[in-house]
Amino acid sequence: MSSKSESSQNGIRISFEFFPPKSEEAEQQLWNTVAELSDWEPEFVSVTYGAGGSTKAPTLSAVRRMIHETPFTTATHLTCVGATREDTHRVIDEFLAAGARRFVALRGDPPGGVGSAYQPHPGGYANAAELVGALRERGDFDISVSAYPEKHPESRDTAADIDMLKRKADNGANRALTQFFFDNDAFARYHDHVRSAGIKIPVVPGIMPIQNLTQLKRFAGACGTSIPSRLDERFEGLDDHPEERAKVAADVAAEQIQDLVRRGIHEFHLYTMNRAPLVSAVLERLGLQRRIDAPAGAAA
Ligand code: FAD
Repeated sequence: MSSKSESSQNGIRISFEFFPPKSEEAEQQLWNTVAELSDWEPEFVSVTYGAGGSTKAPTLSAVRRMIHETPFTTATHLTCVGATREDTHRVIDEFLAAGARRFVALRGDPPGGVGSAYQPHPGGYANAAELVGALRERGDFDISVSAYPEKHPESRDTAADIDMLKRKADNGANRALTQFFFDNDAFARYHDHVRSAGIKIPVVPGIMPIQNLTQLKRFAGACGTSIPSRLDERFEGLDDHPEERAKVAADVAAEQIQDLVRRGIHEFHLYTMNRAPLVSAVLERLGLQRRIDAPAGAAA
């Protein structure tokens, strides 16, 4: 397992996010991706969890395998939406039995999807701050939480979002991982607000290398992430040129990270979408080194 210092390269520390596979083909792709990305020795990796437990079995299975069969320090995402406290504790017990000691604690989207009214379960945890408190009472776990540099779509304003982040930090969160964003100025403003509010935990930018800008636009709207027009310009005319598109995508993500490094940020959470080549290409552009015993030249 990598130590922090080993996984810090060029002063940059990285983590990866995966989602649980839902088919045999997706399963194969995930483990191929995991094998290739392990060469980059991330600080930790995380596996998402479908709100309301919709992916509980595949998340549990992926987390168990990552913990026992890969070098990764592994966190499981966990949501509390639509569950009683007892349900949530049962799920926590299952993850603990699988060896998990790291969590990404989330409320989760309402069952009607983003934009529909959120109703906490009457017998459950009302939000992620309460879930963090419950996890912290259970043990000395490493707990990450979400943060929204461009505001959570349900929040009335940034102040409400920062208030929720403060509650999560006060209840024992170790770090915040952000929703993906492309506007570094918005992140910098948000980061200033967070620090002014006395929140001291690291706020780790979530970086989404753009596999497909058209698809991403549909998804970004629901997440509250803005797509700057410069991205349209960068990807213009590349729809039918996948190789060129992949190069631009790697450049765009690497440039975003380099700009954030210049602004004093050194930890990054990469949304891998369970695909290795683009992520590897981004890390190569940053000058990070693959583990010495790894075969060279596998990236895009
Ligand atoms: P919270 O931190 O509890 O709240 C988020 C914000 O919404 C708050 O800042 C607050 O201002 C506002 N808010 C909360 N409750 C209310 C309310 N009742 N009324 C008005 N405003 C309110 N989803 C999944 O299903 N599975 C995952 O694995 C997953 N992983 C994620 C990882 C990251 C890094 C991020 C950023 C998001 C992830 N999500 C995931 C999405 C997340 O579940 C949704 O954004 C969800 O709507 C909010 O969950 P949260 O933990 O951010 O909520």
